[in-house]
Amino acid sequence: MKRVLQRPPVGVARTAVLIAAARANEQRRLHRLFDDPLAEGLVAAAGSANDLNGVRTLAGDHFVLRTRYFDDQLLVAAQPQVVLMAAGLDTRAFRIDWPPGTTVYELDLPGLLEFKDDALRDLGAEPTCERVVVPCDLRDDWATSLIHAGFDPKRPTAWLLEGLFMFLPPVAGERIMHWVSALSARGSTLALEHVNRAFRELPQMKAVQQRFDTMDAGWCSDVEDPVAWLSGHGWHATVTHQVDLAARHERPVPAITDPREVGDARIWLASAVRTA
Ligand code: SAM
Repeated sequence: MKRVLQRPPVGVARTAVLIAAARANEQRRLHRLFDDPLAEGLVAAAGSANDLNGVRTLAGDHFVLRTRYFDDQLLVAAQPQVVLMAAGLDTRAFRIDWPPGTTVYELDLPGLLEFKDDALRDLGAEPTCERVVVPCDLRDDWATSLIHAGFDPKRPTAWLLEGLFMFLPPVAGERIMHWVSALSARGSTLALEHVNRAFRELPQMKAVQQRFDTMDAGWCSDVEDPVAWLSGHGWHATVTHQVDLAARHERPVPAITDPREVGDARIWLASAVRTA
């Protein structure tokens, strides 16, 4: 039994435990879509995520598919620097077989990263890359902190923005895209998740939104056309539908992303290459 650390994540940072719990759950499957041997220990260190079981029941299958999708995007990109924006309890810096010389920057709120480092130390985890943590608030000037941490804007970068934008006001999301784009050398890649308004307004999402609101983690933004949005920031983007991902991995389509259940409501999964 792992000890529960003194300062488990609270507020929006607690949503990271929810995602880690979904990844831990996937480890019980024989034919899993990824290996994440640290996820269970991280959840245990946080004291469980049972209070968020309702959300996991609804979206757990999506969290698993999206994890595999983003793993694949990062591996194909094979960039010398990788930036995990809102890294949460993502353990890619420990579980992915990175090309030699890769540096992975993890950005998230200071309390979350402190908890994560304590828990990973207890678990004896060793990174498979050069891992640099950058504690920051992504609504503020994170770009300066990233550069001070050693990030080089002249080298191509793979950016990952997974499970972040919906928690930020639109103006903060725009500012993030502005700086991500400004710091991206030609050939950089980006992968992101976002939702459209119809998704936020699904009746199935009402209880989730209420739960997140009570945690001070309410959703406050959406995007209708991620390809156009990214194009406006100088990126050529492609969206992948969960229906196609599920078919590729021989999994059922997660109900919360199945057009037969949710119509035009979308959780966008997009990948993009810097063109400007
Ligand atoms: N990307 C991770 C994953 O998929 O495992 C974590 C996703 S979790 C749903 C959302 C993450 O966003 C949390 O780790 C939270 O701390 C982080 N986050 C939310 N608002 C933030 C902010 N203003 N600055 C930094 N991190 C933030």
